[in-house]
Amino acid sequence: MADTDTTPDFILRCPNDGTKMEKVQAGEYIIDRCGTCGSIWFDLAELQRILAHEVPVEKFDIGGDLRSTASPEHEQRVCPRDSSPLIDVSDINQPHIRYQTCTVCGGVLMAAGDVKDIAHFSVVERLKAFFRL
Ligand SMILES: [Zn+2]
Ligand SMILES: [Zn+2]
Repeated sequence: MADTDTTPDFILRCPNDGTKMEKVQAGEYIIDRCGTCGSIWFDLAELQRILAHEVPVEKFDIGGDLRSTASPEHEQRVCPRDSSPLIDVSDINQPHIRYQTCTVCGGVLMAAGDVKDIAHFSVVERLKAFFRL
């Protein structure tokens, strides 16, 4: 019997296409990224820390080349952690940036390329207001 039931951090599935997401190092943090569409899943706390510490997002955001593989706009995506429906959020100041968020666990799904954009403009305050943190 092998002693291999260690699953400290279970594999998330991409809300867009169901691909198993990869663990990617972002500075000192580990985030989940989809190898198919490039979407990135953050815990809200992770996102706050990454933005606060100015982790160079180019290291993990592989850019917008894969963006066209994203699901149709109207398709309901669900949280990879708790299967709650994700809600669409767009940034008032950067309306081209849209992301999905889970109101249950506070996770945030961003499309490839958008993290680079959003890193130039802190979304944290808005998220805080949204979740009333
Ligand atoms: Zn994906
Ligand atoms: Zn969730």
